[in-house]
Amino acid sequence: TEKNREGYAPLYNPFEQFFSRYVYRRVQHCFNRPICSAPDAEVTLMERHSDDYNWTFRFTGKKRVCINLGSYNYLGMSMLERGPVADAVRKYGLAMASPYGELGRCELHDKLEAEIADFLGVEAAIVFGMGFATNTLSLPGLLGPDVLALSDENNHSSLILGMRLARATVRVFRHNDVKHLEQLARAGIAEGKWRKIVVVVEGVYSMEGSIVPLRAVVALKKQLGLQLYLDEAHSIGALGPNGRGVTDYWAVSPADVDVLMGTFTKSFGAAGGYIAGSARMVRAVRGAGHAATYAHAMSPPVVQQVREALHTMRAPAGRDRFRALQRNVHYFRQRLESMGVVVFGHPDSPVVPMLVYTFSKMAATVELLTECGIATVGVGFPATPLNKARIRFCLSAAHTREQLDACLRGIQSAADTLGLRYSRRPRPPH
Ligand code: PMP
Repeated sequence: TEKNREGYAPLYNPFEQFFSRYVYRRVQHCFNRPICSAPDAEVTLMERHSDDYNWTFRFTGKKRVCINLGSYNYLGMSMLERGPVADAVRKYGLAMASPYGELGRCELHDKLEAEIADFLGVEAAIVFGMGFATNTLSLPGLLGPDVLALSDENNHSSLILGMRLARATVRVFRHNDVKHLEQLARAGIAEGKWRKIVVVVEGVYSMEGSIVPLRAVVALKKQLGLQLYLDEAHSIGALGPNGRGVTDYWAVSPADVDVLMGTFTKSFGAAGGYIAGSARMVRAVRGAGHAATYAHAMSPPVVQQVREALHTMRAPAGRDRFRALQRNVHYFRQRLESMGVVVFGHPDSPVVPMLVYTFSKMAATVELLTECGIATVGVGFPATPLNKARIRFCLSAAHTREQLDACLRGIQSAADTLGLRYSRRPRPPH
């Protein structure tokens, strides 16, 4: 295998490797930007000079307060009242010093699992210390070499790695294309050799800002006897009248989704992930997934932060946050679209990608917006097609109208400078 400069085998294919070595390196100042505040509606960036060629940085000592359109703080929970979390630190410390399946689980974990299951309306749940590992280490316990996995082309890398680790046969369907999914499922059934066929999708896709057409997927799953694994990293807390994610949004019974997965890094302002569903399935993940046996359990204060966030979501104040998020999403999207830039995604998605096409425009836009006091994230190849680089705006319930207006003015000025108002729009990717 090819080795990279440090002598390790790369995870990416040679072109991706080339891209990250020679292109990302030239625009390093747009990535890996350290902050020195909580990721709230505003965030403080630490200014630095970067020597992109040598991968080195030098902090200037200056700080820049920016309006934050880059973090996944959908419900504004990053600044939740810290008292109960501090109490959890006092009682349990920061770490469990043991894997979940040994001495790593305390009463807080049990309480959170029961509360998550109750919130989602399913029998059981299990929580882990990291969202990424929740997918990567649980999927091998649920799939196997005799399983056919049908995976959306835009699925997150943690899902892809999990399916690979499970040694399942993976076939990819076009993004949100239920007809294509049906073709692949019928072909798989005709082969007659799969123990089960599992559809793997996300709730909100973080590069496209699109929402899974869950009703159609569930109807197909029932018709053909498939199973469904749903990653709600970006939809839990952010979609649905009660914030219960895409099942809530599309009024689909949670019992119709075999595996509900989600992370606590976004709407909950914490860290970690969960798997929820039937008690039998959760037992399988507990027993056969690697996370419960080999990985450190979620840190107790983090468990407490998730519990506090959940409590807030379920209180009337939580409803106000969902409504504020939706109001901000609709306002921002509408104003952005009327500006003439190309915006992707579903009208209700809290992720709002703006297409800039080329990698260099992406880097330049991030730079110009930072100068205007707006912190954003640019995304490009290999996370997007090579010629569809974009800026990903993440809306929050914590943003005020004044902050959004200031951002829109900054975006308008960057769009004028860089020519981002395209008269011919590309066909949306979905
Ligand atoms: N699933 C999806 C769809 C994601 O977007 C992410 C990360 N953004 C993860 C899983 C991993 O979650 P975490 O960052 O909480 O580890």
